[in-house]
Amino acid sequence: MKPVIALVGRPNVGKSTLFNRLTRSRDALVADLPGLTRDRHYGEGRIGERPFLVIDTGGFEPVAKEGIMKEMAAQTKQAVAEADVVLFIVDGRQGLTPHDKTITDFLRRQGRTVLLVVNKSEGMKYTSVTADFYELGMGDPYVISAAHGDGVHDLVGEALDAA
Ligand code: GDP
Ligand code: MG
Repeated sequence: MKPVIALVGRPNVGKSTLFNRLTRSRDALVADLPGLTRDRHYGEGRIGERPFLVIDTGGFEPVAKEGIMKEMAAQTKQAVAEADVVLFIVDGRQGLTPHDKTITDFLRRQGRTVLLVVNKSEGMKYTSVTADFYELGMGDPYVISAAHGDGVHDLVGEALDAA
């Protein structure tokens, strides 16, 4: 069985960009419009000899009660349930948002191994890009740039070790 990695986070943090890099496909829809990728999306990746499955999600809207946002939340919950390890992606340029805190609370209840990942960190210092996020209580964040590839290989290695 290949380990399953789920990408979770609020819209527009770079989940689909990371998915595309991991699967080297253009299947996941990357867009400037938050919430455009509405379906769970499965792909296969490989680091060296280690294959894995990765699930992209549409962006978690935990307070949504109806409509497409509720549907996206349900799909994200399903993806987390299927995952061996969750990469919880946040945006290092935007910093911590209330939405990130709500997702943290949700993930704590799911009983999965979660790695906190600060994306969009290219050209930024580790200490300044991560400072905001210690408040989430998820330990030392992994710092990546999904767009440029920085830190992605190491992150996946850690994720597979934790899976
Ligand atoms: P999603 O909604 O979480 O799937 O986010 P997307 O992958 O669609 O990306 C949202 C926006 O962030 C797009 O404009 C991406 O080009 C941009 N983005 C993604 N990763 C990075 C990154 O590492 N650095 C920067 N600067 N922008 C990024
Ligand atoms: Mg997306």
